[in-house]
Amino acid sequence: MTYDLAVVGAGIVGLAHALAAASRGLSVVVIDRDAQANGASIRNFGLVVVSGEEPGRQRRLAERSREIWLEVARPAGIEVLHTGLLAVAQRPEALALLEAFAASESGAGCTLLSQEELGRRQGGLNLGNLRGGLLSPAEIRIESREAIPRIAAYLEGELKVDFRFATTVSGVSPPVVETSSGPIRAGKVVVCPGDDLTGLFPELIARHEVQRCKLQMLRLAPSGLRLASAVVSDLSLVRYPGYALLPEASALRARLEDDSAEALRNGVHMIAVQSADGSLVVGDSHHYGKTPDPFGSEAVDALILREFGAVFAKSPTVSRALDRHLRLRTGARAFPRAGGRRCPSRDDHQRHRRQHGFRHWRGNHKRAIQLKRPAA
Ligand SMILES: Cc1cc2nc3c(=O)[nH]c(=O)nc-3n(C[C@H](O)[C@H](O)[C@H](O)COP(=O)(O)OP(=O)(O)OC[C@H]3O[C@@H](n4cnc5c(N)ncnc54)[C@H](O)[C@@H]3O)c2cc1C
Repeated sequence: MTYDLAVVGAGIVGLAHALAAASRGLSVVVIDRDAQANGASIRNFGLVVVSGEEPGRQRRLAERSREIWLEVARPAGIEVLHTGLLAVAQRPEALALLEAFAASESGAGCTLLSQEELGRRQGGLNLGNLRGGLLSPAEIRIESREAIPRIAAYLEGELKVDFRFATTVSGVSPPVVETSSGPIRAGKVVVCPGDDLTGLFPELIARHEVQRCKLQMLRLAPSGLRLASAVVSDLSLVRYPGYALLPEASALRARLEDDSAEALRNGVHMIAVQSADGSLVVGDSHHYGKTPDPFGSEAVDALILREFGAVFAKSPTVSRALDRHLRLRTGARAFPRAGGRRCPSRDDHQRHRRQHGFRHWRGNHKRAIQLKRPAA
């Protein structure tokens, strides 16, 4: 048989393409070299970030992405564990940035919270160290380790998508896809290989300056703390472009360069989310390279935990049974580190746009490579 579409990669990007195609009535096969999805898509916070996205196209894509997650969650049996994102401010510069965000178009629907209101909204905060916060209602959080296999099962059961796991794709030349289990025929092929930048179409990928990135996260043992939503802190506000591109971010960045240089050097910021068993997933760090080393660093863990301790009153206990598997993560990101900077700034974006005519940011690597059948 010849499928309408073959998708290489059963991570979230591959599954999203399969969903879009199968929903339109196309016949689809998804091929993955692993026996089950095992890449970045099952190793993340599961946070669908909306407020943090750059205004314009990225923001609209994030909003659409959230809608699709909500459409699929119920029929696929996926629980939404958090709704909303609470950004808490330790420094006056962070509070000023949150106020500017709330007043901007992107901040529509968000609520600024005083220190007292923060305490009412979220228990267990280190309130003495916090000046206020902002609640964005737009974010949702799912448990990606469970959600990804459930989406695959939903696609297979309801939308009749075929899956070929434990099958490596070695060549793509529509209508033939060469695999370790023999050729598969498809009119169109979408390649979504995650951080495998050298397997298929290396030259094409190289042109987009995609870099690999190692991230560390920790799982903290349940401690009675209940998160009402995902929580982020000052360091996150200079990472997420929705906040970081506002003029008010410069003062916060300067302050952090002064008092948190080590955290910035390691790309550390704090996101805390909660799993159904009460444990917290807390992270993360960012180290870029062609092949980042595969080892977790205690020093980086300590930086993440220090930021957690600045926001939450209870001292964290790393769940030794659980933390190790969350330590090492690799993903891919289409933004080159600019000469010695810790994280991309507005200038980096503008320089990049001048050079390349478009702006790379997280998520751009998700653009899949699509091959059409050559005209007869
Ligand atoms: C620690 C961490 C936290 C993150 N947190 C978030 C978050 O909260 N929210 C968010 O939106 N994003 C987050 N991200 C980013 C997000 O996880 C990734 O952008 C996303 O999962 C990438 O999905 P993917 O399908 O491209 O890649 P993957 O999930 O890596 O899937 C790629 C698949 O392709 C397969 N493959 C590759 N080459 C071949 C081949 N030749 N033949 C067959 N199969 C092949 C692989 O086996 C793999 O299964 C996070 C990332 C990390 C690392």
